Amino acid sequence: RAKKAGPGTVCFFEQADDRSSRERKALQSDLTGAIARDELFLVFQPFLDLGSNRITGFEALLRWQHPTRGLVPPSEFIAIAEETGLIHEIGEWVIRRACATVAEWPEEIRVAVNFSAAQFHNTAILQTIVEALAEARIAPHRLEIEITESMLLSKYGSAATVLNALLELGVTVALDDFGTGFSSLTYLRKLPFSRIKIDQSFIRDMLVQPDCAAIVKSVISLARDLQIGVVAEGVETADQLEYLRQISCDEVQGYLISRPVAADGVMALLETKKYRANFAA
Ligand code: C2E
Ligand code: MG
Ligand code: MG
Ligand code: MG
Repeated sequence: RAKKAGPGTVCFFEQADDRSSRERKALQSDLTGAIARDELFLVFQPFLDLGSNRITGFEALLRWQHPTRGLVPPSEFIAIAEETGLIHEIGEWVIRRACATVAEWPEEIRVAVNFSAAQFHNTAILQTIVEALAEARIAPHRLEIEITESMLLSKYGSAATVLNALLELGVTVALDDFGTGFSSLTYLRKLPFSRIKIDQSFIRDMLVQPDCAAIVKSVISLARDLQIGVVAEGVETADQLEYLRQISCDEVQGYLISRPVAADGVMALLETKKYRANFAA
């Protein structure tokens, strides 16, 4: 690409590449000590059940409080963690912290944890989960693992083996960002998912693009027929919520319900009656 452009452009691209690779290296080396320095923390975003108008659980989302850069979002460091292999240590920390946190919540409330491909294909994660559940003394069904479609296709081999091992432990598995990968409906039938999460891009456009609405409706009816739960991600407006109610979506998540909150904000969110009142049909 750079060779075809003019001489000035070549120089520009090289500088930009150098800069971004220096930047990556700096982040990489900072991330190495982030756990030890206690810079990582979890925030929690609720799932609202549309049948009961109650919060049924929270998704744990990772944050990095960098000493000089401030708050770094996962989009800026998860890929680096994957490339360097740090994701294993970080992923373990996330599971242990999520389990310890859910242990302080009412028993009917679950916690969902996001997995990276590398974690998903490392069977050592199973032992970590067993230990984390035991240490926190929580029932396995209160932990849900979120994986994406692309992990099912990867070169690492049989996703079914890992999924079945997770199921045997009693934890549940959700298919995240559904519709953004090369979805095969065969996966839904053959693999033991407890839930599908419809990607926020479909929710964002469903009221303005009829084809998006058609997809959302189809996924919800498919999930119902397969007896899998379905969550709509990225619900931001009351109109979107109303539409999802009409087409019988099970659960919703999004800024309209709540932004992700710190661990100490969870109980307040559960106790407030606001949710019943505002979101009742
Ligand atoms: P995800 O699992 O699909 O999480 C949903 C993302 O959408 C979150 O961004 C959340 O804050 C954001 N979101 C929620 N509601 C709304 C809404 O109404 N509107 C909009 N525009 N966005 C909304 P976040 O926290 O930045 O996380 C981004 C991605 O990073 C996650 O996507 C997940 O793939 C990854 N991630 C987060 N935590 C972890 C982790 O502990 N481990 C791994 N491997 N990946 C993680
Ligand atoms: Mg997720
Ligand atoms: Mg998602
Ligand atoms: Mg997403």
